[in-house]
Amino acid sequence: MKNTYLNTLNGKPVGSDKTFESLNPATGESLGSVPISTQQQVADAIAAARAAQPAWAARPDAERKALMMKVAEVIKANAPYLADWVTREQGKPLGGLGPDQVPGARFELWGCEVWTQVPASLDLPVELAFEDDTRRDEVHRKPFGVVAAVAPWNWPLLIAIWQIIPSIRVGNTVVLKPSEYTSIGTLELVRLINEVLPAGVVNTVSGPGEVGAWLTGDPGIDKVMFTGSGPTGAKIAQAAAKNLVPVTLELGGNDAAIMLPDADPKAMAMGLFWGAFINMGQTCAAAKRLYVPENLFEPTVQALKELAEMMPMGDGLKDGMVMGPIQNKMQYDKVVDLVDSARQQGGTVVCGGKPAGGPGYFYPLTLVTGLKDGDRLVDEEQFGPVLPIIKYRTVDEAIASANRLDAGLGASVWSTDVEKAKQVASRIQAGTVWINQHGMIHPMVPFGGVKGSGYGVEFGLDGLKAVTQPQVISVKK
Ligand code: NAD
Repeated sequence: MKNTYLNTLNGKPVGSDKTFESLNPATGESLGSVPISTQQQVADAIAAARAAQPAWAARPDAERKALMMKVAEVIKANAPYLADWVTREQGKPLGGLGPDQVPGARFELWGCEVWTQVPASLDLPVELAFEDDTRRDEVHRKPFGVVAAVAPWNWPLLIAIWQIIPSIRVGNTVVLKPSEYTSIGTLELVRLINEVLPAGVVNTVSGPGEVGAWLTGDPGIDKVMFTGSGPTGAKIAQAAAKNLVPVTLELGGNDAAIMLPDADPKAMAMGLFWGAFINMGQTCAAAKRLYVPENLFEPTVQALKELAEMMPMGDGLKDGMVMGPIQNKMQYDKVVDLVDSARQQGGTVVCGGKPAGGPGYFYPLTLVTGLKDGDRLVDEEQFGPVLPIIKYRTVDEAIASANRLDAGLGASVWSTDVEKAKQVASRIQAGTVWINQHGMIHPMVPFGGVKGSGYGVEFGLDGLKAVTQPQVISVKK
């Protein structure tokens, strides 16, 4: 019999009468059962977080920082165990360790460690807003209280860490719901970090979207952090608005990558490839449409095709795998449908394009040419291993293409002339525009979207500020 994995509520393991199975997307096998939290358990988790919050916030900053460094040590010590869960449950291959390796599950755990250490080492000192002979006005940063966090399935542990760590660094407590597609690894992560955190500081609930709706719509919540799709983000924002609760929304993207006519396709192919196909394209800020001028079109397609065809794909627990399966059937069906629609709309499949056949949701790395703006594969977020490569005539036209959709998470400009690329970058509507790289987030650099990609930022000092509220202390002299 497979194990049932449990939630952590006030530092203690908690199950539920109802459970569901978590499946391995590479094999279709059950990995174990996950509790479906009841509405009462969601309320209990919020109450536990509420009860723990004043003492957690009252601790000296140095103590909270030291405890968070311990959390980073726990993550590091358990990285092999947790990376194994990420591969089995999410699908990305184990891969190498560290920033220069193929980004797989070990990379995700390395990211969890770093995205814990960095906020732990940052401070939000008191700011002097104004001072003269008559008054002194200081801005202090206070925690909100209880943060509700709802995470997606693509980088399940890393995104949970992005939501939990800044929140608790500044004195909030957290109730987190992982995605129903990737719950076990996250529940295990939270169980393990609870070994060093006081009870109630980080709690979990689990189950389908309904459980997330109970959590984010509860009047006992003071701030919501959500990463996931646009439609869910809109529902959460509406529910939070009823309670006048602020929300950070990190939603989907449809990032354009634009090669300028002076770009070097051979030298840039590897960066473009990983910009698009990291985690099988299941990354919010992956390059999802590539705009290439006529003069570079053939060499760019050729260089990307060579890379796409040489990447080993299979069960990520096996040595040497670089690509894994798509994470779930819903996403797999979406990719199949979008590639079929691309064929019908006149696209040419340069490589891939045919489902690999089961078991597992394997789909080959796919490049499609011959499409234009307005075709479904260009306009809809594929969130999978497919990249449309679109020919453009003038740079103005490419910029207009990049800006025409209601998405604005990231974008990139590729050129041998950085100054020229920066001028193009400043005309693109996106939270981040990378130059000669794509999706290269960093724990010190704010990250967030504009337009339909959401609002609010994570990471760095701005990310810490986003989980606090300012309090002015104004003194008469
Ligand atoms: P999703 O919106 O379907 O689900 C995300 C989470 O929301 C899950 O935990 C789900 O159970 C929960 N949920 C569903 N309905 C809810 C409701 N009514 N109230 C509260 N919670 C609810 O998204 P997904 O399919 O898991 O993730 C893929 C999407 O996320 C893509 O669009 C991707 O681009 C986006 N994404 C964005 C970022 C970013 O930082 N901007 C990062 C990763 C993924």
